[in-house]
Parts: sequence; structure tokens; C-alpha cells
Amino acid sequence: MRLLRAFTERRRSPLPPAVTEMLLLADQQVAITYKRHTAARRFTLRMARDGSGFTMTLPRRASMMDARAFALKSEAWMLKALAKRVRPVEIADGAVIMLRGVEHRILATGKVRGLVVHDADARTLHVPGATSHLKRRLVDWLKAEAAHDLDVASTKYALAMGARFRKLNVRDQKSRWGSCSSDGVLNYSWRLILAPSSVLDYVAAHEVAHLREMNHSMRFWRLVLKHCPDSRNAKTWLKLHGNRLHALG
Ligand SMILES: [Zn+2]
Repeated sequence: MRLLRAFTERRRSPLPPAVTEMLLLADQQVAITYKRHTAARRFTLRMARDGSGFTMTLPRRASMMDARAFALKSEAWMLKALAKRVRPVEIADGAVIMLRGVEHRILATGKVRGLVVHDADARTLHVPGATSHLKRRLVDWLKAEAAHDLDVASTKYALAMGARFRKLNVRDQKSRWGSCSSDGVLNYSWRLILAPSSVLDYVAAHEVAHLREMNHSMRFWRLVLKHCPDSRNAKTWLKLHGNRLHALG
């Protein structure tokens, strides 16, 4: 009976509100939010989804002193997470995006008509039309650039490897940078146009090599490396920075 009452009282008393504090981590001011949770058995720390700070979940009755001590103990982990974080980049006037691995500034021209103009020297992308359509226009342009570069690279490797592809699609696929079907269709992510050209080039070599070897055998890798010696660096780049390509939207 006593137990039951304790249980119902606990259910009734509201959880204290979340508390947000600023934490100084190696000269960076970082927000940390302490949130109590009825089901929490221990302290858990995670980065906020937008990368703006951290959230710590506390057991209902844990002391704030212990929570802060846990935060201090986790300093190295938090610094590592901050260094790895990817900030989302919104396509908009004035924003900076990567194009073939080089930072470019987006500039809305305000002109009613015209095409997207790429000024490679000034590292700018001039986008005409209404601001509300800027994102769609620029993404369409980036997809067309990706299709062009991927077609050039795929054709080059098809000739070199004695392979033939039937069709090439550029899509916004999240899970893979490229794929190849047994009937000769190559699919690529348009976001490869944001990466350094050597990375796009490697993905094309990889997919075209699958037209010859539908596996990841030694023979497959020998074929890729023979024609694209830079493959290892490109693979490492994708592993380290690939998620940055998905941060643009
Ligand atoms: Zn593969």
C-alpha cells in the first residue's frame, strides 16, 4: 500500500523543467540542457540534432552537482563531437556552398530572366529569378553540372575498361554515392558535384568497374586502382567528409 502511494505521488508530481546553462569548452561557449526523465537510470549526454549544443538526460532525482560533474568529465568527448559536427547549410542568397570542392558564394541577381552563371575566378554562383525559387533553380543547375561531369567521367572509364553503360541517372540518393545495375544503368548522387572532382571521378570509376565485375573482389579493386590510382584518397575523403555533402539543403 505504501509502495503504491509512493508510486502514484511520483506520477503526480511534475518533473522539474529543463535547465540550460552555458559551458566553456576550450574557449567555446556551448549550451548544455539538463533534462530530467522519469525512466532515466543514469546520465546520458548527446549532441542536439542541429549541432548547436548538448542535452544531458538526468534520472529524476539526480543532483545538479552530479550532473555538472558528469558534464566536466565528458569534456573531451564533447570537444570531439563539436569538431566532427556538420552544420547544415541552407541554399540562400549569400550562403557559401562547395562546388567541385571549392567554396562558392551564392548571389541572387534579382534579374527576372537568365541562367545560373558560375564565375570560377570570383568563386560565385549568380542565380536569377525570384528568391523563393532560388533554391530549386540552383539545385537544378547543380544536378545538371553533376550529370555532365559524371557522364564525362563514366564515358572515360567505360572506354578505358572496355565496358559499356546504357543509361546514367543523377538522383538525390541518401544511402549510396552510386550504384550500377546488371542491365547497364548507372545511378549517381547529384551531391558528388559538391565534392572535389577527384572524388566524383573515383565514384564513376567504381561504378563503371562494376559493369565488368559485379562484386567487390580483388579483381574488381585491381581494375579500379589500375584506372583510378587516386581511389584510396577519394575513399578516405568520402568517409571523413561525405556527410557534409548531405548537409546542404
Ligand atoms: Zn561497389
